[in-house]
Amino acid sequence: MSLPNCPKCSSEYTYEDGVLLVCPECAHEWEPGQEVEEDGVVAIDANGNRLENGDTVTVIKDLKVKGAP
Ligand SMILES: [Zn+2]
Repeated sequence: MSLPNCPKCSSEYTYEDGVLLVCPECAHEWEPGQEVEEDGVVAIDANGNRLENGDTVTVIKDLKVKGAP
């Protein structure tokens, strides 16, 4: 039986603790099957929108410009 690597630090030395998986490398705990962001961080901007990265924000701002050639 193989356990998934730690989503936070990619350690392969994870172990089960009840319903949770635990990483001894960074002490991260999570529920198996629950999708976690690759870097374990979800960025939220002032409007509550989830940010994928800075480039996405730049594109959205550009799209809001109307009337300009
Ligand atoms: Zn870890």
